[in-house]
Amino acid sequence: MTAEQTLAIIKPDAVAKNLIGAILAHLEADGFVVREMRMLRLTTERARDFYAVHAERPFFDSLVGFMTGGACVPMVLERDDAVAGLRQSIGATDPDEAEEGTIRRLYAESVERNAIHASDSPNNATREIEFFFGA
Ligand code: UDP
Ligand code: MG
Repeated sequence: MTAEQTLAIIKPDAVAKNLIGAILAHLEADGFVVREMRMLRLTTERARDFYAVHAERPFFDSLVGFMTGGACVPMVLERDDAVAGLRQSIGATDPDEAEEGTIRRLYAESVERNAIHASDSPNNATREIEFFFGA
């Protein structure tokens, strides 16, 4: 297999709870290599752009408020089958439905405050990596 890249974001709930290191350790144990990483606080405009696909959903304004409420840590992760593999490592969107041992099962508070983002397709990974780190 060939290495693939995907985007993860440690979300503001996990950053506020001092879980950056625990989540990075989990990702590294699952075989991901960190290729790029920074800490930043999203503006409302940038958060609305990042989640534009969800603009019509009832949770959109609350999600944008959460994502702009504190610092987050976007990163580029590399591994074989990185996009699908990271979705497996993080677990389902709702932590109550996430498999035992997944990052969201371990660290998420709620369906909104769910600790980590992961790109959902190779095309979106390309877009999201560019969004934070340029082409
Ligand atoms: N979200 C929410 N309520 C919902 C569904 C999603 O607050 O009912 C939030 C949650 O933070 C989620 C993000 O919106 O991670 C994006 O939703 P998506 O369906 O893309 O889930 P993901 O790809 O993050 O698992
Ligand atoms: Mg998604």
